[in-house]
Amino acid sequence: MSVKDKILLLRSSLPQSVKLVAVSKFHPSEAVLEAYNAGQRLFGESRVQELVAKYNTLPKDIEWHMIGHLQTNKVRAIAPFISLIESVDSVRLLECINREAERCGRVIDCLLEVHITDEDSKSGWDIDILRTYLHSGAINALKNISIRGIMGMATFTEDEAVIRADFERIAAIKHELEPLFGEQFDILSMGMSDDYPIAIECGSTQVRVGSSIFGARQY
Ligand SMILES: *Cc1c(COP(=O)(O)O)cnc(C)c1O
Repeated sequence: MSVKDKILLLRSSLPQSVKLVAVSKFHPSEAVLEAYNAGQRLFGESRVQELVAKYNTLPKDIEWHMIGHLQTNKVRAIAPFISLIESVDSVRLLECINREAERCGRVIDCLLEVHITDEDSKSGWDIDILRTYLHSGAINALKNISIRGIMGMATFTEDEAVIRADFERIAAIKHELEPLFGEQFDILSMGMSDDYPIAIECGSTQVRVGSSIFGARQY
């Protein structure tokens, strides 16, 4: 099946309320264009260099999401154009994004990535540290960021019960933090190629799907 057919099929299977982030990391700009020509405008990347290169060469009405671990020294490169940073996982990074957003006269939308599995390989906030930080109120001083919601990943396993429990936990964290942010806190980003149907059942509003659209990545 072509990228176009896969994207059309996937989109038709998603509830209307769920946004599709097409994860194009490690795939060439031609593949992004194929998805673009099928009507897709929202793409996710995990490495700054690749993201900037694609931003520079591809149509400007694409909305880019940063979904991979972000180092503070790379924020400046994406601050002028990024539409959502999904992988915010530290106070230091929040403060850096705020500074760079101010520098280019923007308010940058961010998600807080939470770490809820036992896997060390996954990034994200420890939930207790996140709670303590948010309840301190220090985040209110960061005028150039807008916290739009939560991003998270389930354990890498075939056990559906474990995946479901992980997504339910992430959804519960979103629910718990809502009163701190109000109406703009409306994004729950969870679900990838192998687990997005479960994520949607658990309340996901945004799925990040790569290999089901573009095929296996060539590292
Ligand atoms: C790579 C990646 C995805 C997409 O994964 P697939 O299994 O290819 O759908 C989603 N989210 C994050 C954070 C990723 O790094």
